[in-house]
Amino acid sequence: MTAQIIDGKTIAQQVRAEWKVRADALKARGIIPGMAVIIVGNDPASKVYVANKVKACAELGLYSKHVELASDCTEAALLAEVESLNNDPAIHGILVQLPLPKHLDANKVIEAINPDKDVDGFHQKNVGALVTGETPFPSCTPYGVMVLLEKTGIAIEGKHAVVVGRSNIVGKPMALLLLHKNATVTICTSKTVDLAKHTRDADILVAAVGRANFITGDMVKAGATVIDVGINRNAEGKLVGDVDFASVKEVAGYITPVPGGVGPMTITMLVANTVRAAERANA
Ligand code: NDP
Repeated sequence: MTAQIIDGKTIAQQVRAEWKVRADALKARGIIPGMAVIIVGNDPASKVYVANKVKACAELGLYSKHVELASDCTEAALLAEVESLNNDPAIHGILVQLPLPKHLDANKVIEAINPDKDVDGFHQKNVGALVTGETPFPSCTPYGVMVLLEKTGIAIEGKHAVVVGRSNIVGKPMALLLLHKNATVTICTSKTVDLAKHTRDADILVAAVGRANFITGDMVKAGATVIDVGINRNAEGKLVGDVDFASVKEVAGYITPVPGGVGPMTITMLVANTVRAAERANA
């Protein structure tokens, strides 16, 4: 069996077109959704992510503001910038590019963002809303995975979903979103005993581990849907996922590639959350 490839690039384009209709409807009312990205320091990877976010906003005709602060900026200066964006009516979504330099408390900064503008979905108010049911801003990567599954027509209800990884950004919100869609959910971590026993039982397997080619074909049930969130560089410097694509594609029913799977969806859902924030601000 060779798995069907879930083409994240194509699905992301389709989803962006859907959200452009909503952005255009706001524009017809004189409202231009606006997103602000704050970046602290000169991390090259962060700069690429921010550039891609700004580009995606432009593609949908959104306004974007890019705030750059020096790596040695004080916490007070960063918090003042957040506060100024909280009060800026042209800005509907604010995100602070992580990781922050060590002298800055990321949690404190996230909590300073107005939860109605928290398009990354990291503020405790939005995390709490995710736990209890509906959040306006599901965090972008797991949200993107849900949309990929939906657009591919993969049934979730009653299925066994196994999420490998429990980070606040990916693993935990992923598990909750799958649970809300009535999957039976298992979360695996570095402390899980006999990981392969769990992964082999998954109808839907989500890998969010951060280890290159970690999930191999012998860890996957025949016909399973395998979603690879990982972004890693292998020894040759090539971008690879957490899933060993070559062996897993021979076993799985569906598989996302890296690159071109989950990655394009993350930024798409960030733009979607910004449009939704603008809709809510002007309801
Ligand atoms: P974290 O490092 O925060 O979390 C990794 C998780 O994997 C932890 O919960 C850890 O368990 C678990 N883990 C580590 N080793 C094992 C193991 N041997 N067996 C089972 N579980 C293990 O990473 P993130 O969640 O932030 O990111 C995960 C991956 O996704 C990374 O490659 C990252 O680059 C990528 N990513 C991709 C995005 C995209 O847009 N496509 C967006 C965000 C992230 P424990 O908690 O016990 O330590």
